[in-house]
Amino acid sequence: MESKEIRQCRHCGNRVVFVQRDSYYQYRQGLPNDGESHRQWLILECPVCAELTLEQIYYVLDDVAVQSEYRNFEISTQVLYPPMRVANLPEAIEKAYRAALKVRHVEPNACAVLVGRTLETVCRHEKAVGNTLADKLTTLANSGRIPQTLAQMAQQLRLIRNLAAHVAEDEVTEQDVPIIIDFLEAILEYLYYAPSKIAALQARLKKAPRA
Ligand SMILES: [Zn+2]
Repeated sequence: MESKEIRQCRHCGNRVVFVQRDSYYQYRQGLPNDGESHRQWLILECPVCAELTLEQIYYVLDDVAVQSEYRNFEISTQVLYPPMRVANLPEAIEKAYRAALKVRHVEPNACAVLVGRTLETVCRHEKAVGNTLADKLTTLANSGRIPQTLAQMAQQLRLIRNLAAHVAEDEVTEQDVPIIIDFLEAILEYLYYAPSKIAALQARLKKAPRA
């Protein structure tokens, strides 16, 4: 099941197709809701920097699949190593983001709350106005700082919507965490990582001898 998907390497920041070097598949039975969920870990190598990435994939089986032959349904993937890049972030945002990452594997609910807080910090830093988090993200999109699709996602994703509305009764599961982290990361990528990459490239071009 080698993926040919183009992904961003967290080590070097390049967009690459990882080379799968190894994998381990774990069966788990008798989980809450009588479910069966399986996990797989992949060791992926970056063709550019040769560093390794550890990815976790959650699978659930539906009832039909359990009765008959095994058919797996992939539901979410999550990079366990290396941790997300936090360099080049404004200090307050980095602090909030680190707090969210710290609890991502132990406290899904707390992680969701802290992701919401990080998004609020981003909006404050960007001076994005609005009554709710979703409004502020729309302001960011309207000013061209983030793509419209990201702001629209905030309205569509149940968890993001609830974070934005400060609804706390919704139970966040371990499987939900990668979705909200990915959403946050996409916003951080646009606002802070991409511009610093462009600045570094410009500096290199300036230094390069003219032909
Ligand atoms: Zn790399």
